[in-house]
Amino acid sequence: MPFSSLGLSPALLRAVSTKAYAAPTPIQTLAIPPVLQGRDVLGSAQTGSGKTLAFALPLLQQLEQSTLYSPRRVLALILVPTRELAAQVGDEIRSLATLLPQAMKVTTVFGGVSINPQMMGLRSGTDIMVATPGRLLDLVDHNALTLSDVKTLVLDEADRLLDLGFAEEIERILALLPAQRQNLFFSATFPQSVQALANTLLRDPVRVDVLPNPQDAPDIQQRAIAVDPSRRTQLLRHLIQDNAWSRVLVFVATKHAAEIVADKLRKADIHAEPFHGVLSQGKRNQVLMDFKASRVTVVIATDLAARGIDIAQLPVVVNYDLPRSAVDYTHRIGRTGRAGESGLAVNFVSAETETHFHLIEKRHGLALPLEHVPGFEPTETEVTPSPGNGGIKGKRPSKKDKLRAAAARGTP
Ligand code: ADP
Ligand code: MG
Repeated sequence: MPFSSLGLSPALLRAVSTKAYAAPTPIQTLAIPPVLQGRDVLGSAQTGSGKTLAFALPLLQQLEQSTLYSPRRVLALILVPTRELAAQVGDEIRSLATLLPQAMKVTTVFGGVSINPQMMGLRSGTDIMVATPGRLLDLVDHNALTLSDVKTLVLDEADRLLDLGFAEEIERILALLPAQRQNLFFSATFPQSVQALANTLLRDPVRVDVLPNPQDAPDIQQRAIAVDPSRRTQLLRHLIQDNAWSRVLVFVATKHAAEIVADKLRKADIHAEPFHGVLSQGKRNQVLMDFKASRVTVVIATDLAARGIDIAQLPVVVNYDLPRSAVDYTHRIGRTGRAGESGLAVNFVSAETETHFHLIEKRHGLALPLEHVPGFEPTETEVTPSPGNGGIKGKRPSKKDKLRAAAARGTP
């Protein structure tokens, strides 16, 4: 089915044609028509399946007709969980908006950078705002914008935005929006709990689920390698060198681990950089830019990098520490095998984490053979606490656990 059968305007079709996409992806085909009709949509489709354009194209079309101009007003609000994703989504929409005949303003705001230029930029309002929740509220508190004219609210990576970590911020934002609005929620995953909450926020939603069918499911080969926790860095180094991997995204459980592993790889002459929330925004941008430009071979990241980020030709993802949940697993490995490319996801599994890994496998209907790499055969068989092996559910409090504990104590 071509883009032209979805009800998009001629101007928008011309803009899309510059991208040289052969056809809309399944989520685009199914979601664009109801969004154009003004319906609320809950859209779920696997990672890398083109969800951004599924909401961005109809949004742009609706705004083509907008005539409301007032200072500080925002017509469409797109919320995303990380700064990098805000930048990426903002850039993707802007690249299309600039091709449209009438001027349309796309503004991206996120924290970690000076707020003043963002405030100045909002004086004349904006058509589309892409924002992380925290900075959006800072701007509201500075009277830099008003949310009372928002016609459409988009939550990208909606399940992440609706989970406990963002609950307070999202609640405040929702209270500032007009009750009459269109709501578009998109994510690769919608755990039951989040779906129930989503349903209370959506009005008679159209549910669009693109189930991964074998033909268009991302082509990601998954492997599990048994290794003692203390030997993981050496194994990682061995795999990178032995396979001549040129671009690898490695997930670890903590910022500290990201620093340590990156440091050790650098000492072995592998160009590795850590990526986590304590780094300055400038540094975070630099690392991603260098990674995309092949100036950095390995990025050692926390789950901060698990959501939404689109890196073309990222052939390998390694779970050095296993993700906490089956949902996190989906998002992490979904950084590879994007837009029809193939990818490889490697999991390091130890005696201690094997049970947890089997749970993740079970949720995904997997049963991967536990491989041994010559020279790295595991020797540990008993479950012994290992301080370097955090991130396992039940072993270490997560941000959510901490929030729950704080809520129980009655402190923020
Ligand atoms: P998701 O949000 O579902 O993870 P993205 O919207 O980030 O996926 O898109 C993933 C990649 O697919 C991007 O590089 C994007 O440019 C590309 N893409 C989007 N739509 C199409 C299409 N119709 N055909 C081919 N590639 C597409
Ligand atoms: Mg996305």
